[in-house]
Amino acid sequence: MHRSHGAYPDVVAERGPCPSCREAERLGRRRFLQLLADGTALLLAGCGAPAKALSRHRRPSHQVPIAPPAPVVDDQDGGPPVPLGEIPPPRPGPPELLWSGPPGTSQVAWTVDDGYCQECIAQYLAFAESSGVHLTFNPNGVFGDLWTPSVVAEARTMVANRQIQFGNHTWDHKDLTKLPTAAIAEELTRNERWIEDTFGVTARPYFRPPYGNYNARVLSVAGDLGYTKVLMWNGTFGDATVETPEQIVSLAEQWLRPGTIMLGHLNHTPILSVFGQIQAIMAQRGLDPVTVDEMFGTSRTTG
Ligand SMILES: [Zn+2]
Repeated sequence: MHRSHGAYPDVVAERGPCPSCREAERLGRRRFLQLLADGTALLLAGCGAPAKALSRHRRPSHQVPIAPPAPVVDDQDGGPPVPLGEIPPPRPGPPELLWSGPPGTSQVAWTVDDGYCQECIAQYLAFAESSGVHLTFNPNGVFGDLWTPSVVAEARTMVANRQIQFGNHTWDHKDLTKLPTAAIAEELTRNERWIEDTFGVTARPYFRPPYGNYNARVLSVAGDLGYTKVLMWNGTFGDATVETPEQIVSLAEQWLRPGTIMLGHLNHTPILSVFGQIQAIMAQRGLDPVTVDEMFGTSRTTG
């Protein structure tokens, strides 16, 4: 249950203005470089700081075509439509930490968190619709006003046809390890209500802890509420903070591999200009971008 703390003993309390996951800053520099050296630093690239560190140690090529390729997946597979509004009951249980896809897969899960950039929300949805790429959104309901009615309608259609799904990233992105137990539950249930009311679907069993921070108490509360899949990541676009489009493409080249759970954000616009290049990298590598339901065999119908 304490994998992050056990594996990364230098974890310290997160500070600073970055509103989303900042794994590298939670690690001592020595530990970070050690993990880079032995190739296990995937988790660390949770924001801009590790992107810069990575660029000093690995220099990805930039042989990426500019023109977007044809969609690498279509949005018509995966069975009958999800019945929006029919919310299955919670299924409590012990939480499982998910750091990557199953061995041997050619799938990648492109996940997108937070959502304080209205243009980012709209353009991510438009990209999904035009490309057919499958995405998993983990938005905070506190930014719910930025999901306009037309964008919500677009999202509901893609939820119903299983092209996108929603996970629970809490209502307003607090560090849950610093909250009383009742407040942890409220962060999850309030965001669940928003997702259900807005998109007609449950986020269960997927929970992504803000900043990637969790402890046994957080996991226990989540599991009791039916969040038995704790969605971590092992690759990142580095866009929790403002990156250049070139940095984002470099990180895509760095981290998009079979089984990657890729971390992205609905917070800053630079990624919007390189969707085609990211899609091209996946296509060149034979990677199939899927939702976490598709990667882990779960369903919006059962939650
Ligand atoms: Zn976040």
